[in-house]
Amino acid sequence: MPSSDVGTIHIVGAGLAGLAAGVRLAGSGRNVVIHEATAQPGGRCRSYQDQATGMLIDNGTHLLLSGNHAALSYATIIGSVSGLQGPAEASFPFIELPSRDRWTLRFGDGRFPWWVFDKDRRAPQTGVIDYLALARVALTSADRPIGEVANCSGPMFRRVLEPFLTAALNIAPREGSAKLAGALIRETLALGGRACRPLLAYEGIGNVLVEPALAYLHNHRASVKLLNELLELQFSGARAVRLDFRSQSIELGETDAVILAVPPYVAAKLVPGLRTPTSFRGIVNAHFRADSAARLPPMLGVINGTCQWIFAQPDRISVTISDAGQLFDMPRAELAQAIWREVANIAQLPDALPPWQLVRERRATFAATPEQNALRPAAETSWTNLLLAGDWTATGLPATIESAIRSGHLAADLIGERMQAAA
Ligand SMILES: Cc1cc2nc3c(=O)[nH]c(=O)nc-3n(C[C@H](O)[C@H](O)[C@H](O)COP(=O)(O)OP(=O)(O)OC[C@H]3O[C@@H](n4cnc5c(N)ncnc54)[C@H](O)[C@@H]3O)c2cc1C
Repeated sequence: MPSSDVGTIHIVGAGLAGLAAGVRLAGSGRNVVIHEATAQPGGRCRSYQDQATGMLIDNGTHLLLSGNHAALSYATIIGSVSGLQGPAEASFPFIELPSRDRWTLRFGDGRFPWWVFDKDRRAPQTGVIDYLALARVALTSADRPIGEVANCSGPMFRRVLEPFLTAALNIAPREGSAKLAGALIRETLALGGRACRPLLAYEGIGNVLVEPALAYLHNHRASVKLLNELLELQFSGARAVRLDFRSQSIELGETDAVILAVPPYVAAKLVPGLRTPTSFRGIVNAHFRADSAARLPPMLGVINGTCQWIFAQPDRISVTISDAGQLFDMPRAELAQAIWREVANIAQLPDALPPWQLVRERRATFAATPEQNALRPAAETSWTNLLLAGDWTATGLPATIESAIRSGHLAADLIGERMQAAA
């Protein structure tokens, strides 16, 4: 039950970082108000009813791994963790084009990556020694491009490092940050199959990570104000003192605080002197209404294709292409046709294009280079009652759901401590 004698925490931005901060604070009895600029919470992680396909689709098929402990704990608290589903054992089927060679990387379900010692579980034409590349990246101390730390050619790169790191970092691995890749490897691959089970929200990512959070917030008396864009933050001395939204202004009392959980290019305009990442990479997702379950596994990695990952459900096929800058200028119908042609070829389906939708997110994540990684700010700012959250803050992880949720949790914990001390 929120208490009225302690301050209100205004969270600006209802993406996963803002929602995670709100859930944690409201759950511990704080007064919370979330302000979101758009009509729909979820930010870069959202579902919507699509006219062209007649289906509820996600802006992007969001994949979690069982080692994403903050995301899983968030989903547990809001009561939706059962909506994240995956195989009992961490396994990743692949196809390589044009040869159509197929194999499955099988990480097992252990706590140690024993699978690298078993040739039937590794990628073809890779040997145990090749997998030392993962250790080299995982143990990198100074941040450098992955291309300077690991061999970016040959079967190990093409069949293991490239597909996983392109998806996780959303950048060509050669130029990606070895430090970010290393953190990811230490938290997932290095912990064995138990931390690598792929988890997907088959009912839609919004129904699993957004709607249940809104219900939780409502039940804990937090309010979420939509279409409430913050235009300016006013400061005085060491504190933020006023929030100017498009249609209202809020004076901040002595015990009130703000968590700014907006994208970096918005935060940089609102907070004087803030350094943030400035360069971004895009992701393309294609959704087709087609019955495919008999012909495709739930998730298939594609090597040497336009498609990178194909996700199949009984009523649909979705395709994800990360670091997809070159595809943003292609006419939409032409791109949809090109993607479908490849899918149809792989799954032996008819060439005729089924109902489709393309979602192209130009600024899907910040560019995960060492230079951009160095621009990520801490959660704490020079103002005592202002904290930052977002997948782009200095979480040490690539811009992912896990990073966004951890940042929200950290901002909530820091602000909770400060309000406790001030009360
Ligand atoms: C296509 C795509 C696919 C992805 N796939 C994966 C994946 O498979 N696995 C994974 O882990 N991650 C994936 N990600 C990354 C993941 O979606 C993000 O890391 C995460 O959603 C970021 O959350 P956030 O809260 O930090 O930021 P955002 O989601 O950007 O939230 C910021 C919020 O602030 C709001 N806002 C902006 N300005 C204002 C203002 N002035 N006032 C009020 N509100 C404002 C925005 O509307 C938005 O709701 C993907 C991203 C995309 C785009």
